[in-house]
Amino acid sequence: MTAPGRARWPIDQVLERTDLSALLDELAEPAAGSMGRGRKWHCPMPYHEDHRASVTMFRDRTGHERWRCWSGDHRGDAIDLVVATTGRDRAEAIDWLANRAGMHPDRPLPPARPRQSRAPAAAKVMDPLVARYVQACHRVLGASAGRPLREWLHARGITDATITANLIGVDPGRTMMRRARGLPYGAEVAATFPVYGPGGALTYVQARYLDPDAAGRKYDNPAAALAPHPRLGFPITANTTRPDVTLVCEGMPDALIAAQAGFQAVGLLGAQTPDESVAARLANHAGNMGTQLVLVCDPDAAGRRVADALIPLLDECGHDAGVVTPPDGLDLNDWASRCPTWPDHIPAPDRPERDGALVDDDPVERRPLHEVEL
Ligand SMILES: [Zn+2]
Repeated sequence: MTAPGRARWPIDQVLERTDLSALLDELAEPAAGSMGRGRKWHCPMPYHEDHRASVTMFRDRTGHERWRCWSGDHRGDAIDLVVATTGRDRAEAIDWLANRAGMHPDRPLPPARPRQSRAPAAAKVMDPLVARYVQACHRVLGASAGRPLREWLHARGITDATITANLIGVDPGRTMMRRARGLPYGAEVAATFPVYGPGGALTYVQARYLDPDAAGRKYDNPAAALAPHPRLGFPITANTTRPDVTLVCEGMPDALIAAQAGFQAVGLLGAQTPDESVAARLANHAGNMGTQLVLVCDPDAAGRRVADALIPLLDECGHDAGVVTPPDGLDLNDWASRCPTWPDHIPAPDRPERDGALVDDDPVERRPLHEVEL
């Protein structure tokens, strides 16, 4: 045992190797007959006569296992449990747990418990923290500090009306804005693109770093414990002039460009190739809205992979989707900025082909691109 007040091990390393339910079994009294996820224990606090077994276990946002006594409001992690039940001080308790987990200063660390059991349970609905983050970032964009980002958005063709309708914002980075764990990390300044469900409810947010090289990544998302990844984002459209067509775009920025041009739009989010469930949701949405899906295919291998996966899946759902490929190897954002009349090149469903852009039902036999007057 070390001198009081000096633990030899980082707390995280010890907690990662401690099974709290086993420790509660050891140091507290399990409730008779309780099993599995809903297990209960009698309160470990020596002065609390807890006849009803009021202690349950949960994981906090950082993934650490914690216990809580609901009748006496006693709570803590494994270290608090050892302190409460054995009379050790914190440093001694940490060393005791480390020793119990097979951690010895002169030997390699034993493996941590499997990652999946350590990860916090995935959220089923969005945590209100995400909405507060969206609002805070939108307020920063409205302040003078947000002016450079507003210009960055304007340069990408995103208008003030679209910014306001969709609560787009700026995350000034974690040194400027403190945030709870699980929210986008804020390594650098990022644009924040809120994500909405088909009914207009906020479901998610993506932070897009302005300087991906400096941040080490392009996008940062909330942790799964705070919000489930929606895979589809429906931008808020101020005025829909083309309800006949829903443009399916790669990513929120392109979907916002499409929405702002008067189309209904959906953004495909994340790097995962669309699967049956994404296709079913898209086809269902198109059916509800009485609209035809037209996939805007990015001019790269990834874009073609998305089209080749999605079109047959939509076909299986009974939806005959079109594909439009912007000319000259442009993505939608560049096409829109160079050709203000780009929406005219998106054909109406009853007119499968119109000058310039190409609509193609067959993802395998795609014909060469037509030239479009820019
Ligand atoms: Zn208690």
